[in-house]
Amino acid sequence: MLQPGLMMDRPLLLSSVIEHAAAQFGEAEIVSRETHGPLFRYTYAQCGTRARKLANALAGLGLKGGDAVGTIAWNNHRHMETYYAVSGSGMVLHTCNPRLHPQQLIYVINHAEDQVVLFDATFAPLVKGIAAHCPMVRAWVCLADAAHTPTIEGVANVQSYEDLIAPCSDEFAWPEFDERTGAALCYTSGTTGNPKGVMYSHRAIVLNAISGCNPSILSLSPADAILPVVPMFHVNAWCIPYAAPIAGAKLVLPGPGLDGKSLYELMESEGVTVSAGVPTIWQLLLAHVEQNGLKFTTMRRTLVGGSAMPRSLIAKFMDTYQVEVRHGWGMTETTAAATMGGLMPAAKGWPAEEKHAHLAKQGRTMFGVEIKVVDEQGATLPRDGESQGELMVRGQWVLSSYFKADRSPLVDGWFPTGDIATISPDGVMQIRDRTKDVIKTGGEWISSIDLENAAVAHPAVAMAAVIGVKHPKWDERPLMFIVRKPGHALEKDEILKFLETQVAKWWVPDDVVFLESLPVGGTGKVQKGDLRKQYGSVFS
Ligand code: AMP
Repeated sequence: MLQPGLMMDRPLLLSSVIEHAAAQFGEAEIVSRETHGPLFRYTYAQCGTRARKLANALAGLGLKGGDAVGTIAWNNHRHMETYYAVSGSGMVLHTCNPRLHPQQLIYVINHAEDQVVLFDATFAPLVKGIAAHCPMVRAWVCLADAAHTPTIEGVANVQSYEDLIAPCSDEFAWPEFDERTGAALCYTSGTTGNPKGVMYSHRAIVLNAISGCNPSILSLSPADAILPVVPMFHVNAWCIPYAAPIAGAKLVLPGPGLDGKSLYELMESEGVTVSAGVPTIWQLLLAHVEQNGLKFTTMRRTLVGGSAMPRSLIAKFMDTYQVEVRHGWGMTETTAAATMGGLMPAAKGWPAEEKHAHLAKQGRTMFGVEIKVVDEQGATLPRDGESQGELMVRGQWVLSSYFKADRSPLVDGWFPTGDIATISPDGVMQIRDRTKDVIKTGGEWISSIDLENAAVAHPAVAMAAVIGVKHPKWDERPLMFIVRKPGHALEKDEILKFLETQVAKWWVPDDVVFLESLPVGGTGKVQKGDLRKQYGSVFS
């Protein structure tokens, strides 16, 4: 007979994260860019105090465990307090992506049944447009003091965050409940159909955040200062707002200042050692650093994910700026990162190019997550680094069902990701494409990611995107979109010739369209759907 373990059964709750930080790292700093410009600076102890005040304020508004509270907000200290006050009270923190179409925003707020929505002043025009369509929201709270809270025409129940919490006690007894309780809700970007809600449990977030602190993931300790550029409104900012207080790392929140100059200056002035963001953000940052002949004096590591990190950008970070790149993979459905790349000790003597190629892969699973790739019949493919199929994932922080959905999306207990990947014998996973983006031509597959990577390696290319376009003979053929770097002349013949040296001949796109910019969505991903709508039939 199995023996019962004789350990205490203490639940993994988010309230304990902020209380841990307040008690153990009470003096560690949170630095936050206010929406109206200046930097705000305080400690984990003060953050905990204000989170308790907000918890009292929300209770005062009549909210109770299980109720949903929405946020439409930048990465800042009031958003951080909201993270803890809401989930810690047993309520559900629904982070809304402000770049969703207003109709989708209305849909998610009503679907989540948000009772209160906290928003940044930046998004006041958005609130003005949607408030009348969100009848369940009893208060719209602006994450600002009274002086910076706008009056919103037609919206009566707007109040300032500071006014709301000012009269409240800073004592609050965080309730204890099952760690499987829903803590936070985030909707998928919903490129087709309505967005789908992913309800994260306290347990999933705490386990991911603890794992994230590990040396091979974020590697956080009190000696670090971490700046999450990844938004707190999407996928829990990769759980950094939870991992940093667990580790006692300084947390630097950039607010709305996401351009290269603002990020660089904040990194330098606050001694940031680790940062995390999508490749487009790093492209902007490096463009600023290059143009101004700057270097990083404290940054040691950058975490990147959300879409594939081009090899050329990895090379620049590592070889020119001595910043380590960790390339991970995750999705809304996986709470935060599920895999993370990195170099093993054996890679020490590798030539630089081999290192870059390895780091362009999305890496090994974090403990707690398992992956496999399957063929179209669902049979598991070998881990040989070549067999590519749909990536399936399961684990402690992977969703089992969408919020309010009738059917579970799982297949034999695994979540089908819609990504196409290979896994090598040493466990390293590489995303080859999205199932909907891969280009099927003459019975073969072309990886749009690989083609984009190849194009971005050209010195005149700032950004590249590739879509499959219907073709009368080949089923689909690649069409490439290029944004040139400022001041660079590049014509079609030159980039096509360059690509011939980088990829197989039949991969070379049939045509190239030069654009001023690519359509980029709220989470930093190129919106290929928009490109398809406009250019999807050019070869027919
Ligand atoms: P989202 O749910 O909006 O966060 O998007 C998740 C999707 O982003 C994944 O299913 C992948 O298609 C893509 N993705 C995330 N990280 C990476 C990465 N490192 N490389 C390539 N694609 C990625």
